Amino acid sequence: MFHFPAAALDAEARALRAEVRAFLEKERAAGGFVPAADCWVSCASPAFSAKLGARGWLGMLWPREYGGQARPALHRYVTTEELLAAGAPVAAHWVADRQSGAQILRYGTEAQKHAILPRIAAGECFFAIGMSEPQAGSDLAAVATRAERTATGWRMTGRKIWSTGAHFCHYMIVLARTSPAEGRNRQAGLSQFLVDLRTPGVDVTGIRDLSGAVHFNETLFDGAELPEDALLGTEGAGWAQVMGELAMERSGPERFLTSFALIEAAMPVLAANADDRARIALGRLAARLKTLRRMSLGIARRLQEGDAPATEAALVKEMGNRFEAEAVRELRGLLGPAMPDWPDELARLMRDAVLHLPSNTLRGGTTEILKGMIARELGMR
Ligand SMILES: Cc1cc2nc3c(=O)[nH]c(=O)nc-3n(C[C@H](O)[C@H](O)[C@H](O)COP(=O)(O)OP(=O)(O)OC[C@H]3O[C@@H](n4cnc5c(N)ncnc54)[C@H](O)[C@@H]3O)c2cc1C
Repeated sequence: MFHFPAAALDAEARALRAEVRAFLEKERAAGGFVPAADCWVSCASPAFSAKLGARGWLGMLWPREYGGQARPALHRYVTTEELLAAGAPVAAHWVADRQSGAQILRYGTEAQKHAILPRIAAGECFFAIGMSEPQAGSDLAAVATRAERTATGWRMTGRKIWSTGAHFCHYMIVLARTSPAEGRNRQAGLSQFLVDLRTPGVDVTGIRDLSGAVHFNETLFDGAELPEDALLGTEGAGWAQVMGELAMERSGPERFLTSFALIEAAMPVLAANADDRARIALGRLAARLKTLRRMSLGIARRLQEGDAPATEAALVKEMGNRFEAEAVRELRGLLGPAMPDWPDELARLMRDAVLHLPSNTLRGGTTEILKGMIARELGMR
């Protein structure tokens, strides 16, 4: 019932991996970035994104007429895997490249595709996800933000919350109610909108985390007037569209490589004093990582073949989140309590990983919701 086909990387993918790795080593050596845990959410560098765009490493799957490279999904997989493993500052373009661009390619008009996709592929146009609201998280169908038709387009009223990166993004894809729910079918009457965040009546406010940093935001739509062509896809088909978007959001290697830079930095320190306990623990982590990667590659292959493996994606995210939590806990135990004696980079990576870890099991769908999806697939509910 779960299907993770084997996915062999061709010679071109292997060459691409070597090219991306060499670029990252050069950038790092030149001081272009320092490796970070949770880099795809917390480390945004528009300049770095533009460099990737110039190399053709954003929008890699899209047709050339929209600024893409018409590459297979496994080539994008290899590229994202290297960027994550290096802890590179990819947060600026991550959402646009991973899911918003793909939504526009699938559902957008020719005008929307030509206006936006080449800018995303160039690393010049960034997107936020406008799904969650104060009263609509796991229960996404409870979305209360409204878009009403006007003589010239749409008027949007409501509030989105936890939108990662909205403070530096150009657009948000907003899920809004365009007509009342049909009886008990609350999923009917929802639509997706491409909202330019500079529109008057749209107000983005940063939310600070424990460290004082701003990664996510609250966005208020106070009767914002949107043009007719702000509608993305079909009016009333927002639920089906957003489900496809969530499959893209959950399926990638970021769901188990968020702390990889930490694991890599810990290795030389642990290797210097490795005892049997450390060897066994690291062996277990490596085996789990390899399994997750094999599953995730299988999903990439299915996406390449046009499938939408939503439950497999939920399984990889849930297992990946658990792997990361246990990896960080295990490394802390093995490294010992004397954090001030650790190399500076290791201490910094551990601090950031610990700070960001709790968000893994919330963002992109909570563990309980994912387990519910998996149980349904197994016929258990
Ligand atoms: C770092 C971070 C970044 C995020 N970025 C974005 C973003 O860019 N855009 C966006 O739209 N949202 C974003 N989110 C929001 C995220 O998607 C929601 O937090 C998530 O969907 C959970 O919703 P909630 O916070 O309202 O919690 P709730 O849905 O209220 O859940 C609270 C608790 O109840 C449990 N629960 C709820 N319903 C059930 C059920 N049916 N069965 C069992 N348990 C249940 C949940 O698992 C959870 O433990 C982000 C969140 C975080 C932490």
